[in-house]
Amino acid sequence: MRALIHIDYTNDFIADAGALTCGKPGQDIENEVAVLTEEFIRSGDYVIFAVDLHQEKDEFHPENKLFPPHNIEGTEGHQLFGSIESLYQSHKNKSNVYWMDKTRYSAFAGTDLEMKLRERDITEVHLIGVCTDICVLHTAVDAYNKGFKMVVHEKAVASFNQAGHDWALEHFRNCLGAEVI
Ligand code: ZN
Repeated sequence: MRALIHIDYTNDFIADAGALTCGKPGQDIENEVAVLTEEFIRSGDYVIFAVDLHQEKDEFHPENKLFPPHNIEGTEGHQLFGSIESLYQSHKNKSNVYWMDKTRYSAFAGTDLEMKLRERDITEVHLIGVCTDICVLHTAVDAYNKGFKMVVHEKAVASFNQAGHDWALEHFRNCLGAEVI
């Protein structure tokens, strides 16, 4: 069994006016993200929207010192970007589609993701979204440590940092044993 982990494809991370945007590299993967999302949903595979969520005045959150406020609950910035929002809205009630808030880079940190995967006998996770070298990377490291087989879709991940993006793709291949396709 396999699952698609859809990471942080929100307005704040993708739109031109987003608080922490990847900009064009993020926007350029929209079509591939949509195609993969539809394919996994239609084939009955488990699709997890693992989406960063922050509170407006969370003085203890470690990202406060690192990044401007982003993905604040209830804001447009926290909604999925472009066509992906309508795609999510039209499929969100399906039993194989799961929205999961996360508050750290890794989709496994402080969430029930691992239990959801194990319950369904899922052994292979496919990663898409942003940023390749931050949230996708940290999720991949955790998936590796937990023994999941991994596939990273090169045309459906992006970063504001091209060097970081390229480095992370190599790291997925060479150190995490992922298939990068
Ligand atoms: Zn964040």
